Amino acid sequence: MEISRKLVLITGGSSGIGKQLAIDFLKAKARVIIVSENSERLQQALAELRTLSTQVYSVECDVGYTESVLKLRETVLEKYGSPDILVNNAGFATYRTFEATPFEELERLIQVNLLGAMRCTRAFLPEMIERKSGAIVNMASIAGRMAMTPNGVYSASKRGMVGWSETLKWELAPFGIQVNVMCPGRVETAFFDHETFQSRIQRAETRYTITVKDISDATIKAIQRNRFLTCTPWTLGAVAWLLEVFPIILKPVYSRLMISRIKTLYKTQKKA
Ligand code: NAD
Repeated sequence: MEISRKLVLITGGSSGIGKQLAIDFLKAKARVIIVSENSERLQQALAELRTLSTQVYSVECDVGYTESVLKLRETVLEKYGSPDILVNNAGFATYRTFEATPFEELERLIQVNLLGAMRCTRAFLPEMIERKSGAIVNMASIAGRMAMTPNGVYSASKRGMVGWSETLKWELAPFGIQVNVMCPGRVETAFFDHETFQSRIQRAETRYTITVKDISDATIKAIQRNRFLTCTPWTLGAVAWLLEVFPIILKPVYSRLMISRIKTLYKTQKKA
């Protein structure tokens, strides 16, 4: 898919991966709409992006609520037109085990990370179908390819995203609409600002970090080449694949790693 002059809507475009994507789409001469639930951060990001291009706009929306997404659709169609590329990137995580997760938090994780992407896609699909072109880009996670303690609900939301994308890809193929799924490893962003990450002890595996630029470049390449699933870095994708194909070899080691992460977490909680 050619990117220049396309209208790109990025949910969660006010920071981290979403903001870097906005920068790179603008540099590729696309028009960009950034969306976020946080009006202050949204305005700050818009001001920053406006130094690069005048072809960038912002709309406030909480993708966790259907009414908010329907309002987003109305505003976007009226002011800017129908997006050619929709990037479902808004999302968050917390760092606690399932039994310690409040009901409101587990509902919100699914509402925002999974249903938020479904709502936005449902809202902007009719015009793409009519036009017989478009791209839906779902920002999942490596946690959507392999279980990750203590992020069971987050992993479920991202696994759900990967599973839903597989059928969506086939359902939309007759309309010439592509679906691309991104599975990043750890990226240092405001994602880790949630209070539950703060007391976390740094472990060896958390040293392996990629940059927002790595994931933004990989996303744009995946869109241009219409690659369905991209894991960044590819080495983590290879581990996820090996876990699926040769579980006898890798699962015991991986299980020990996942259990040890939980033991470290419980130790930290006991000390606190
Ligand atoms: P970030 O916190 O910098 O960005 C998250 C963005 O989502 C922000 O703009 C925020 O305002 C927006 N957002 C959150 N809740 C929202 C809501 N209810 N409605 C609308 N917008 C909302 O974090 P990031 O690392 O850039 O994360 C972007 C995406 O990448 C997320 O979906 C995350 O799950 C995924 N991801 C992140 C990592 C990582 O290590 N940072 C790894 C894999 C996947």
